[in-house]
Amino acid sequence: MPTFLAGGTGTPKLLHGAAATFPPAETPVVANTGDDIELAGHLICPDLDTQLFADAGELDTETWWGIAEETTTTHDALHEFAERAGFDTTPRYLDADAQTSGRRLARWRRFSGVGEFMHIGDRDRAVHLTRTGRIDEGDTLTEATAVLRDALGVERTILPMSDDPVATIIRTPGGEQHFQEWWVANGGEPTVEEVTFRGAGRAEPTPEVLDRLTDPVVIGPSNPVTSLGPMLAMDAFRDALESTPVVVVSPFVGSEVFSGPAGKLMAATGHEPSTAGTAALYDFADAFVLDSEDETNLARPTVRTDTTLDTPEDSARVARAVERALGEVG
Ligand code: GDP
Repeated sequence: MPTFLAGGTGTPKLLHGAAATFPPAETPVVANTGDDIELAGHLICPDLDTQLFADAGELDTETWWGIAEETTTTHDALHEFAERAGFDTTPRYLDADAQTSGRRLARWRRFSGVGEFMHIGDRDRAVHLTRTGRIDEGDTLTEATAVLRDALGVERTILPMSDDPVATIIRTPGGEQHFQEWWVANGGEPTVEEVTFRGAGRAEPTPEVLDRLTDPVVIGPSNPVTSLGPMLAMDAFRDALESTPVVVVSPFVGSEVFSGPAGKLMAATGHEPSTAGTAALYDFADAFVLDSEDETNLARPTVRTDTTLDTPEDSARVARAVERALGEVG
């Protein structure tokens, strides 16, 4: 079975109804960790969590993040205290010294919990506490993720791309912002001047990931800049993709993006925001799954289908198209 690479929306959506073609127990996912942050001392890994919650049957599939029908008692109390004490709940990035002290994994992405700018449910918080507690006891992120997988009854192997810190930083005219600050707190509004992956030069994909990348790889519809960018910024990860068959499902129909900031981020980083621009970025890709309405002509094998991923039936259809594309390159 192929290994899927994931951000926080497109690949989990694709796998949601794909079990007949790609059985979860045999189909591993490698998730981006560039979006992770430490908030109030808790490590939050949004892309790993979406896949975990999806496979556990607990994901809120209205938003594609968080747990469905959650209480938010702690989150609400934090906001109540902030209001009474007279401070706001916008992101409070810790100062420069604090960014490189404390847990190594949290480097360059440490925020005070006083401003809880992400909406964190009570059960969701228990996941972050379990992860952080295990890491403080000596687990790697890979090991802590396996603990959560068992705790949530998930069959799928879900792997972080690295056990090293990589932080996605957006440079705006007003200064640098961590990706979550830019996207969640500021709605992706500030102009993007540059996107960097701090730490990527020193980070390595884990042995577990490199092992899985010897199988064929599927890049589900993902943000090429902020979900695949952190992976591709690690030389060993990119080298592994050069040496194995790779199928890409476009997150675009021509130049129309389905959702999220992929178009804006690609344009800001000098790439055409389209299927063609995605293909140019993924020069290692061997085949593509494009929407039937997508008129892009790529000089690589292409399978077309309706790539909308709203229902389990949609996922099953796109999964069959992925299987056909793998058949062309495997
Ligand atoms: P993030 O981690 O949530 O930012 O998101 P991802 O890296 O998973 O990227 C989501 C990408 O999936 C976006 O670029 C969307 O255009 C794309 N996407 C969202 N919904 C669909 C869909 O229904 N079909 C397809 N083909 N792409 C989608």
